[in-house]
Amino acid sequence: MTATEVDAKVRQRVAELAAKVLDGELLTREEAAWLFELDPAGSIHDVLYWANQIRTRYKGNNIRLCSIVNIKAGGCPEDCKFCAQSAHSKAPSPRYGVVDNTTLKKAADQARTNNVRALGLVAAWPEVKEGPVLEELCEKFRLLSLEYGVEPHASLGMIKNRKIAEKLKAAGVTCYNHNLETAPSFFPRICTTHTYADRVETIRHLKAAGIAVCAGGIIGLGETRRDRCELALALRELGADVVPINILNPIPGTPLEGTAPPTPIEALHTIACFRFVLPDREITIAGGRAVNLRDLQSWIFMAGASGLMVGNYLTTPNRPVELDLQMIRDAGLSPI
Ligand code: SF4
Repeated sequence: MTATEVDAKVRQRVAELAAKVLDGELLTREEAAWLFELDPAGSIHDVLYWANQIRTRYKGNNIRLCSIVNIKAGGCPEDCKFCAQSAHSKAPSPRYGVVDNTTLKKAADQARTNNVRALGLVAAWPEVKEGPVLEELCEKFRLLSLEYGVEPHASLGMIKNRKIAEKLKAAGVTCYNHNLETAPSFFPRICTTHTYADRVETIRHLKAAGIAVCAGGIIGLGETRRDRCELALALRELGADVVPINILNPIPGTPLEGTAPPTPIEALHTIACFRFVLPDREITIAGGRAVNLRDLQSWIFMAGASGLMVGNYLTTPNRPVELDLQMIRDAGLSPI
């Protein structure tokens, strides 16, 4: 078979899989694995073309924005190898306790100024437990929605009983981020202080409490394309509503310092494959976007992204929000 004939077969197969998804069917595990394992060098434009069609069919032309604020930073006892906030990391990272309401209001005002309707409060600790800290946080969530005019989202680590999730829901939290980070089989290479099962349990409590689940992961940790597929399928199975995709920014001082990042094309291929596997989910591009995609940042929408984290990340700055809003509009899309 000539190279051209092989290309034609690949193109036809990608189009067939896209047609299946556009018809409302889900890819099988085998189909998803085939797509993820395709060499993007020969297929990227076809895969992006169809991912864009799927995004348009299921998500329209709106790009959902979100922002986060680190309300408790640094010194986390967990050993997630990508994280500058882990106490096991040598990366210089800010350390502070739960922020006061003045800081919170400033973050909410900033989000509203940027036309971002949701603000996620993020804490660097392993889990949120019942007790005075949870009560204090619930008070902050009420302030966010009732007085500061933003939708409260949260990322407070593991949740080990449903009552906690129900308390957060009652305080107005509409969406909770808890990433699976990577494939179940690769997870022990990334973290040894808690398990993948702990993460799944948290997601189940959130689902039971009726809080929307924001769960995704990081690519570029050293995982294979097959691992990325495993992650996407796990998220589909668990019913993640929003799927943030981060691209590793290997921060000096973390154990993953020096890890070679995925190329922009590799990252875009992965985003597109997620869109094929999770056609109607919100796929949001989060950390590592600018540093890894560089001039190809706007291609994320062609790759099927329907959401964008804007404003600063937890420990690294992001570019000005105006540039992101301009990028979305220039692509003929609408930030919401
Ligand atoms: S649990 Fe969160 S804050 Fe703690 S080390 Fe892991 S990623 Fe970092």
